[in-house]
Amino acid sequence: MTLDIPLISAVAQAWQAGVTAISTGLVQPAGAALGLTERLGNPADVAEALMISVLHLVLIGGVLRPLESWWPAERWNDRHHTRVDRLNTILMIMGLFPLFSFVVLTPLAQLFSEGAGAGADAPSGLKLWVPWFNDHPWLLFGLYYVLYDLAYYLMHRTQHLIPWWWALHSMHHSQRQMSCWTNDRTSYIDGVLQSFVLAGVGLVMGVDAAEFAWMTLLSELMQNLSHANVRWDFGTLGGRLFVSPLFHRLHHMKRDPENPALHNCNYGQVFSVWDVLLGTARYEPDRVRETGVSDPVVDADNDLGLVGQQLYVARRFWSAVRRRAGWKPGDVSFGPGYVPVPDTDAPHGR
Ligand SMILES: [Zn+2]
Ligand SMILES: [Zn+2]
Repeated sequence: MTLDIPLISAVAQAWQAGVTAISTGLVQPAGAALGLTERLGNPADVAEALMISVLHLVLIGGVLRPLESWWPAERWNDRHHTRVDRLNTILMIMGLFPLFSFVVLTPLAQLFSEGAGAGADAPSGLKLWVPWFNDHPWLLFGLYYVLYDLAYYLMHRTQHLIPWWWALHSMHHSQRQMSCWTNDRTSYIDGVLQSFVLAGVGLVMGVDAAEFAWMTLLSELMQNLSHANVRWDFGTLGGRLFVSPLFHRLHHMKRDPENPALHNCNYGQVFSVWDVLLGTARYEPDRVRETGVSDPVVDADNDLGLVGQQLYVARRFWSAVRRRAGWKPGDVSFGPGYVPVPDTDAPHGR
């Protein structure tokens, strides 16, 4: 089925022309110069991935960033804490994530489908269990997306529950100026772990590489929006279905000393419905809370640059993961030597 709408076909043509130009003008010469022509596969696919990355950055910088100026949730005199997140985002979107997918995830997925005795195009996962889906690809994509989002919700709760994983994930929460760039403020160790979990879920469901790339891009864009410093909720009904900026801001709230467990809420990635169903949803439409953490060991992330943060978080993780206390579920902060201390025993809490 082709849609004969002039604007859409003009955009599609321009996109295709861009893919061809980048493929022949950049990817092929660069591949040849680096001796990677064989390994790169189809240069047009690489060019398209590159264009999607650039488009992603343009949407964050050109759409979400202006929204922060027009409808700010918090007013700041300067944005100096957001700089390191912006740098992280550019590095992650333009380099680290595509590289990791290309070098690790894709070969691993191929290995799995070969190991299962199926060719790359043979149906697997949901398509194999319910063949009816082969004729209803959009419904299938919707179902994949819902299950992928549920998997993310459960993983995110675990990131908060297990102290060694919190040692990593806390870097995402230490930001005092949460903005459209904060989504990619992640420890690289955590990024690798998350990718394995989510790609594993994709493999079990039988998602192919292109579908997985679209699911990731959609989720990433929604998460860039939900971290933006924008005073938006999505109304009573919309806010119960989708994660809005104010909804996710509550997940990032600094610990409330009057009510120390209040921050354990709003774990959803794109759909807030998991929080509603599983009793972790919280709404405060008339109030904007400070973001960040009370634990001074974690808050110290804010004084570091890109590389410093990664090294510091890796030390926190290493101290937690090799101790029994690092595996005991519950809210913790970090004591001397980055030893996890249950919040019930700590003066300031997480
Ligand atoms: Zn979190
Ligand atoms: Zn977040």
